[in-house]
Amino acid sequence: MVTRQLPPVRDMLDQQQRGWACVWCRAWLALGSSADLGQQRVVPETGAAYLWFPRECLDKAECARRTAG
Ligand SMILES: [Zn+2]
Repeated sequence: MVTRQLPPVRDMLDQQQRGWACVWCRAWLALGSSADLGQQRVVPETGAAYLWFPRECLDKAECARRTAG
């Protein structure tokens, strides 16, 4: 469940768009250590619409610490 506005997808690393890295802190996500934020559909001003798959760390305190650092 999305609790805050996701960062713009254009700022995302490829790994973040694929759900391999946290959308907030960019940490690599091990299996079972991340939460699915739900499939996102993007319609760019130019080009075709596409999907991306944001995930975030389960450990929000650690995540926030990494984001701040
Ligand atoms: Zn994180």
